[in-house]
Amino acid sequence: MEFNGLLPNVFDEVHAFWIAGGSCDGCSIAAVGATSPSVENLISGTIPGAAKVVLHHPVLAVNAGEEFIKPFRLAAKGELGAPFVVLCEGSIMDEGLAALTGGYWSGLGADEDENGDPQPIPSSSWVTRMSEHAAAVIAVGTCATWGGVPAAANNPTNSASVMDLLGEDYRSTLGLPVVNIPGCAPQGDNITETIAGVLLFLNGLAPLPEFDELGRPQWLFDETVHRGCTRAGFYEEGLFAEEHGDKECLVEVGCWGPVVQCNINKRGAINNVGGCMNVGAPCIGCTMPGFPDAFAPFYKTPPGTVVSSNVSRATGSVIRNLRAMSMTFLNRTHRWNENGHVPSGWGHVEEPSPLKKVVHYVYEKMQFSESPKPGSNK
Ligand code: SF4
Ligand code: SF4
Repeated sequence: MEFNGLLPNVFDEVHAFWIAGGSCDGCSIAAVGATSPSVENLISGTIPGAAKVVLHHPVLAVNAGEEFIKPFRLAAKGELGAPFVVLCEGSIMDEGLAALTGGYWSGLGADEDENGDPQPIPSSSWVTRMSEHAAAVIAVGTCATWGGVPAAANNPTNSASVMDLLGEDYRSTLGLPVVNIPGCAPQGDNITETIAGVLLFLNGLAPLPEFDELGRPQWLFDETVHRGCTRAGFYEEGLFAEEHGDKECLVEVGCWGPVVQCNINKRGAINNVGGCMNVGAPCIGCTMPGFPDAFAPFYKTPPGTVVSSNVSRATGSVIRNLRAMSMTFLNRTHRWNENGHVPSGWGHVEEPSPLKKVVHYVYEKMQFSESPKPGSNK
């Protein structure tokens, strides 16, 4: 079914074909861990307005053999009779190289050769053939979006991305270039939420989600890890972890978060829990096109840190002390201030020094310069 660039009718069902290239299956694991929405929401059609997804996944399918492959064949010929999206996991490996030694890198199903012998159908061949009739091609994970670990420098497979395979002129039947959801593995909700957004667009019930110039969902990848990091306050105050397991900012043990676009810290790895720095891991840039080579060697201090963390260290030492002084007074009630004593049985709380009281007096003058101080008669 072709759409010719026009918004189609509302569809009850949309097929989703999952094709794995050079991958570890981590993106599949990430997808089934998604909760908002979940894969169950997608395949049961419980998202209002979104078509029910008929999922064809080689690991999750209950059917096997030719029964499983048949819808792939129909979709590749444009004869499925229903709209479909192609979800690609893993890099596109150079099957020409593998063929030189009579093998193949990754495949799904088999066709007969001229002698009637079954020959595996390479994953890349499926992607090329099915993309022609697909409503959308969505690359899931860094291997599919940019090449990832299998495409690292000097790799023997000459791996590349789905975008490299299909080219910049590729457009789906909905008029979309390849959609890219990077991450190694991606945050699961990033996958399902993007699919849901495309499904709503397919049914004409929502505008096309915004994508950046690399086809990433704009709303998911427009901020750096650093901006959403629970340790960013430590960075700002110039406090840095010296070894793994420390609670402070991880930049000096190899975190690239300030220059990496990723939302896992804000969203959590699964069900709002986890996320790299939240569990003590420095960011190694797994969502970025330059990964892994541009972030090697992992767990060494990034060179840019020489400037930025030393500036934070210098300014942070001043700011930290000023904040500590403010906290001295914020930890007191006005009654305790009037009495000049904190009646805590847990420990002795020292009275602020005369110098701190003077600084606090000036601070309050600024704080209440345009509004009355609570309890005053003004
Ligand atoms: S741990 Fe990384 S992302 Fe978090 S504040 Fe430090 S540098 Fe930024
Ligand atoms: S924080 Fe860094 S290492 Fe972790 S998922 Fe995001 S990009 Fe990858």
